[in-house]
Amino acid sequence: MSEAYFRIFRGSHQIGGCCSEFRLGKRRIVIDFGANLPGTDAPEIDDKKLVQAVFGNKEDIAATDAVLFTHYHGDHVGLKRSVLESVPMYIGGTAKNIMKIIASRVDYRDKKTDASAAPEMPVIERMIPYPKGGKAIDFSGISVTPLYIDHSALDSYMFVVEMCGKRILYTGDFRDHGIPGSDRFDRLIQKYVGKVDILITEGTMLSRLEEAKNNPVQTEDDLGCEAEKVFAAHHENVVIVSSTNVDSVMEFYHHTPTGMAFLCDAVQAEIIQEAISSRNFGNYSYRKNIYVLCPNNYKGYMRNLHDPHFIMADETKYNETGFVMLVRPNNPRFMELLGKMKDPHITYSMWSGYLKGGKCEDKNIVDFLSGHDDEAHFTQLHTSGHAYVETLAKLIEMTKPEVIIPMHTESADEFAKMPEFAAYKDRVNVLRDGEVYKIN
Ligand SMILES: [Zn+2]
Ligand SMILES: [Zn+2]
Repeated sequence: MSEAYFRIFRGSHQIGGCCSEFRLGKRRIVIDFGANLPGTDAPEIDDKKLVQAVFGNKEDIAATDAVLFTHYHGDHVGLKRSVLESVPMYIGGTAKNIMKIIASRVDYRDKKTDASAAPEMPVIERMIPYPKGGKAIDFSGISVTPLYIDHSALDSYMFVVEMCGKRILYTGDFRDHGIPGSDRFDRLIQKYVGKVDILITEGTMLSRLEEAKNNPVQTEDDLGCEAEKVFAAHHENVVIVSSTNVDSVMEFYHHTPTGMAFLCDAVQAEIIQEAISSRNFGNYSYRKNIYVLCPNNYKGYMRNLHDPHFIMADETKYNETGFVMLVRPNNPRFMELLGKMKDPHITYSMWSGYLKGGKCEDKNIVDFLSGHDDEAHFTQLHTSGHAYVETLAKLIEMTKPEVIIPMHTESADEFAKMPEFAAYKDRVNVLRDGEVYKIN
């Protein structure tokens, strides 16, 4: 019988920088090829070492049937440019289109500043979209069923992997408190997953227990409701949110009070247009006009926006009506806009670790907030992209795995000690990076 195993190249004891493989005899599939998150403490395996470990020799390259990306976050796709052209890559169709929107700007900027930088677009163009409707793909005897799952990246996937008569669930990053909601999550697991032999699950929130417990915003629904109150109380609302966190962007859009303008730039507008037009995502819809910030009133920024809800923003008008403006602190243009406002209120909707004194302090965010982060001008409203411990416990109960392998967590060794997983504590199998777990 061919040797069959699972291995985490990186990500068994850290959040992000993920890469794993399933191997059956001489063939294999690789799942995710992520860059280390900024602020990853003294990584034992840096990105260069990871590329070497995964694709360092000809045999491994030739053995790879595919690289399957769970979603578009950099800690899962960041090393995509190091995948050789001969190796097929897969990602969700809408995820691919969103990556192309971002890449068109990144490549343009890189071309101006660093002529030697390899463009992202041709790499993304090569990616193959997953089939819809829970259909399986066969890779030399390893069957993979991609299942669309709730996460802070739109069009994310978990995988049911079947090989050697074993049924394995590889969760990737997921949660059940986004717009799709926990009922959909439960139905998905019941219908397409059921009992599994091995559960390979993310455990991000195990090191963020206090943060989760003390957060009044538990769901994307809560986020929208709380945001509406803040927006209604201020005339100039500035929102810091990741442009690709489409659930949250949609909540801010839908909860912009009547009469107030919802403003964003062309990149964010194109992502919203892509998300709504893909029609796969319930509750994504146009509810009011979206005013697009076009520097120097240059209409060319609107060229990819075809829906009539997108209208070029008029500064005089939005200053009159009041507004909710999505901003990106890494773009100096927004700093200028902020400087022109009389009494702005900032809603911060990203992980608190990026703030001043946080675990991964982000200079752009800290600079942007400087002078605006007193209580009267600053509100934090954010819900995590990752499953709460209760959700992990529910998933374990629903899939009744014989073996549980944690990853994408700083607390892998705590997994078996969690009271929520007590009934399954003897089934937790913590792997080290690079360690082989035999499947047959
Ligand atoms: Zn991740
Ligand atoms: Zn993610």
